[in-house]
Amino acid sequence: MTTSRRKFIKISALGLGAVAASTTAINMFGSNSYIDELVKKNVSKKFKRTATYCEVCFWKCAAWTYTNEDGEIKKIIGNDNDPHCYGRLCPRGTGGVGMYNDEDRLKTPLIRITVNGEDTFRKASWDEALDLIASKFKDIKETYGAESVALIKHGAPGSHFEHLFKAFGSDTIAEPAYAQCRGPRETGFSLTFGSWIGSPEPTDIRDTKCLVLIGSHIGENMHNSQVQEMSDAIDNGATIITVDPRLSTAASKSKFWLAIKPATDIALMLSWMNVIIEEGIYDKEYINKYATGFDELKKHVSQFTPEWAYGITTIKPEVIRETARAMAHAAPSVIIHPGRHVVWYGDDSQRARAMAILNALLGSWGRRGGFYFKEAIKVPDFPAPPLALPKFEARKV
Ligand code: SF4
Repeated sequence: MTTSRRKFIKISALGLGAVAASTTAINMFGSNSYIDELVKKNVSKKFKRTATYCEVCFWKCAAWTYTNEDGEIKKIIGNDNDPHCYGRLCPRGTGGVGMYNDEDRLKTPLIRITVNGEDTFRKASWDEALDLIASKFKDIKETYGAESVALIKHGAPGSHFEHLFKAFGSDTIAEPAYAQCRGPRETGFSLTFGSWIGSPEPTDIRDTKCLVLIGSHIGENMHNSQVQEMSDAIDNGATIITVDPRLSTAASKSKFWLAIKPATDIALMLSWMNVIIEEGIYDKEYINKYATGFDELKKHVSQFTPEWAYGITTIKPEVIRETARAMAHAAPSVIIHPGRHVVWYGDDSQRARAMAILNALLGSWGRRGGFYFKEAIKVPDFPAPPLALPKFEARKV
């Protein structure tokens, strides 16, 4: 690890406000040095290593737990073979041991009771709690129908509850995070490339020559592998362009920081398209081969000059031109990062679509240093009896 990468990760961790001044940068990202020490002292045999993964966020980094002879977890470290973490957990994942041992951690079900007119909880066994829930589900189903029980789910564990609800006979299921987080981005990229971005984003940041962040805060968001890969990209001399009204962690490491007026991103991106098309620095071969509607796009963006965008975005025309040329110079190893939590202003799908179109003009979709295509492993369906059919279907109303 080079000095600058260590420094970047240290700055990133400091951005979380959770670092003691004396803590070294490398330790903040789950160094394996503790285990190395044990191996050196030949005491690692006393520890049992168990495969696990971190559930603190949706990145789901694969990890190893080290348990002593008394069954106490002493350390959690990243799994080297996992490209989500490259063997290093972020500060939250590394803190998993503390979370596991937290005295306030809920370890048994609690049932609400009233004591002297006050609501409180008492501990219950799993059997008692599950029987109570099942009896309430049954009562509701008999009185109002199964579909009157609604599931508001999120993330990977939500799929287990979804299965349960479908087996119960309810498809009253919603995932609000789609409309609160990634929905517009997936819509914008789908409209452009016919494919979702998905999670984690298939961005080849490590090999990129130019990374453009528009409202994306790598280094503050702690999306583990992306933070590490951005550090590597910086070490490799990649140009970082950050569009953010704030001097964010990423902006502080960028060659270009565009302190844009909030809510004017689309104007900036239209003017970038204008420069890239008018100067003929788009990926002509890629566009000829894969794109439809290029002439209409060219005509549409011809009015959106950097001078036009300046009055809206407050970004100077020469900076708009210079950054557009920097992207084109790096193409196709360039990423206009699709971001996350992209529900902002009400024009978010179009904002994401502008990002997707810029990526298309630069030919970065499916290219090294741009966006890669994910390979999926087919896992056979779990054998299950036919699910109950709901009597009520929202789609038919
Ligand atoms: S990014 Fe951090 S919190 Fe999220 S899964 Fe990985 S180690 Fe855990």
